[in-house]
Amino acid sequence: MFRMVILGAPGSGKGTISNRIIRDFALKHLSVGDVLRSHVNNKSSVGQEAESYMKAGKLVPDATMVKLISYELKRLDSVPWLLDGFPRNVSQAKMLTNISKLDLVLSLDVPNQIIIDRIKERWIHEPSGRIYNTSFNPPTVPGKDDVTGEKLTQRPDDAPEAVGRRLTLYSDNTKPILEFYAEKHILKEFRGTESNEIYPRVKLFLEEIIPKELHILEKSN
Ligand code: AMP
Repeated sequence: MFRMVILGAPGSGKGTISNRIIRDFALKHLSVGDVLRSHVNNKSSVGQEAESYMKAGKLVPDATMVKLISYELKRLDSVPWLLDGFPRNVSQAKMLTNISKLDLVLSLDVPNQIIIDRIKERWIHEPSGRIYNTSFNPPTVPGKDDVTGEKLTQRPDDAPEAVGRRLTLYSDNTKPILEFYAEKHILKEFRGTESNEIYPRVKLFLEEIIPKELHILEKSN
C-alpha cells in the first residue's frame, strides 16, 4: 500500500502540487486542516478539543492529534494515501511511525524571498473576498476592485515581516522533521520557485515509485 506525506511552507504551492498529484495518481488526499475543520463543524469531541487552538492559530495538542490521526488512518487501512498537514513536529512524526509505514516524504523547498515577494503582490477586496495579484491577476484599475470600484487592501498577515515570521517558524519546526525522515531514507526534496516548473519533476519521480496500477493515465501535464 503506497503512503506518502507532503511538506511545504505556507505559500510554497503545496495545495497546487497536492491537487496535481491526486489528479495523476489514485491516492486519497487527507488534508488534516480540512479534517479538523469538519470535526469542529460537526462538534465532535475532537472538534471541541481542537476549536480554541485553531481559532488562536496555534497547533492542536498532540494528544488530540493522536486520536484524530489514528482514527482517520485506521479508516484508510487498505487505501493508498497522500497525507497533507501532518506531521508538524517530530513528536507527531514519531507517532505516525507507530501507526503507519510511509513510503515517501516529499518536501517542497521554495526560497523564502520568492514566497515573500509573491505574497506582497496579493491585494484583496475585503467585503467580497476577491483576490488579485499585481503580477498575474491584476485589477483593471490599479488598487480598485473590478466589480465595485472600491479600494483594495492588503492583509496585515500578508505583510513581508509577518510572512517572514511565519516562514521562519515553519523552517524551525520542519528542519528536525526533515532530518528525521532523511535518516530513514524516505525524504525527497524538490527545490524550485514555481509549481508549474516543480510539478513535472515531481510527477516523473512519482511515476518511478508509485505502483503502475495507481497511475491515472488519461490525464497528463
Ligand atoms: P491548515 O489548514 O493546515 O493551516 O490547519 C489549520 C489549523 O489546524 C492549524 O492552524 C492548526 O490549529 C490545526 N492543525 C492542522 N494540522 C495540525 C497538526 N498536524 N497538528 C496540530 N494542529 C494542526
